Amino acid sequence: MSPTAAEHTRTAVGLAARDASGHLSPLAITRRSTGDDDVVIKILYCGICHSDLHGIKNDWKNASYPMIPGHEIAGEVTEVGKNVSKFKAGDRVGVGCMVNSCQSCESCGKGFENHCPGMILTYNSVDVDGTVTYGGYSSMVVVQERFVVRFPDTMPLDKGAPLLCAGITVYSPMKYHGLNVPGLHLGVLGLGGLGHVAVKFGKAFGMKVTVISSSSGKKEEALERLGADAFVVSKDADEMKAAMSTMDGIINTVSANIPLAPLFGLLKPNGKMVMVGLPENPIEIAPFALVATNKTLAGSFIGGTSDSQEMLDLAAKHGVTADIEVIGADYVNTAMERLAKADVRYRFVIDIGNTLDKAAATTE
Ligand code: NAP
Ligand code: ZN
Ligand code: ZN
Repeated sequence: MSPTAAEHTRTAVGLAARDASGHLSPLAITRRSTGDDDVVIKILYCGICHSDLHGIKNDWKNASYPMIPGHEIAGEVTEVGKNVSKFKAGDRVGVGCMVNSCQSCESCGKGFENHCPGMILTYNSVDVDGTVTYGGYSSMVVVQERFVVRFPDTMPLDKGAPLLCAGITVYSPMKYHGLNVPGLHLGVLGLGGLGHVAVKFGKAFGMKVTVISSSSGKKEEALERLGADAFVVSKDADEMKAAMSTMDGIINTVSANIPLAPLFGLLKPNGKMVMVGLPENPIEIAPFALVATNKTLAGSFIGGTSDSQEMLDLAAKHGVTADIEVIGADYVNTAMERLAKADVRYRFVIDIGNTLDKAAATTE
């Protein structure tokens, strides 16, 4: 490769938050030059996860600014390092929440890079060279081959992008907590980006799926469009009472602090709630809610790279994709305001390929 070409691949533009206001605006950045194990990706779409919103607002008190969020990345390979065997230029690929890990610990050995103490997140994480990682609200990214997944031929890049975080985050606990068994009754708490994909996987696994939502606003589409079997409004005492002790498991995707004790009442004895939502403040649970009928509260954090590929392949097989609203890069701040109010059906996806350069040029 000529030095000019190498130089060219390192320049990128992103949408960055500068402080906890979370306002996103263009920022010129450089990406590392292509290492032997690296895949260079032209980003075409990036989903907006609620974690991006938590991140730019510094809800978790770990923000490093400027922050370029985005970990639901879909795009096309433009170049690969000399050791890369799985991908070549032109391939349709994705990157989720991680871009590296130690690759030698027990967790990495078992394919759970998401549990590796040396895991490097796609953004707001310190990379091996000491720089802070920048995410997918940007024009290109350079990622180690191990952390890149292949898009199945039938999986569209825009509707598939959210699976890279929302998909694996619900698929992994369903797999490892036995909540993928035909005939079992799954509760999906919170019908947002993660929740609506959980409904679709639950139905793909042959489960009975009940959505537990904070209002009745999403009832019709949950039942008719997403294929849920039932819908319970968590603030409606009668509906909650009727659903008591009926569920084998609940995937809790709620992004805010809500009282959990009544929700444990929905579980059968020995039922489990797997928490994937990451509200800002500590959660509070009355011990009796757990202890009385042997309930389990578990947590689950994204998923490993091989599980991510497995999830994507399975999603393609069952026709599971995200319901999305595609937006231009210039709409991203409005999208964040709407996401904060759960006003999206059910994932914003930024059309990076067609709109980011233009948005960056007009705000310069
Ligand atoms: P989202 O699209 O905003 O969906 C969250 C849903 O939670 C909303 O649609 C809403 O559902 C419900 N909700 C929000 N505020 C509420 C409130 N005050 N009271 C009751 N319900 C409320 O978010 P997401 O992208 O799916 O992410 C959900 C959470 O998972 C976030 O905290 C995110 O950071 C976290 N997350 C965790 C992981 C992980 O690895 N564990 C990975 C990705 C994301 P209804 O309208 O149905 O009530
Ligand atoms: Zn996410
Ligand atoms: Zn490791």
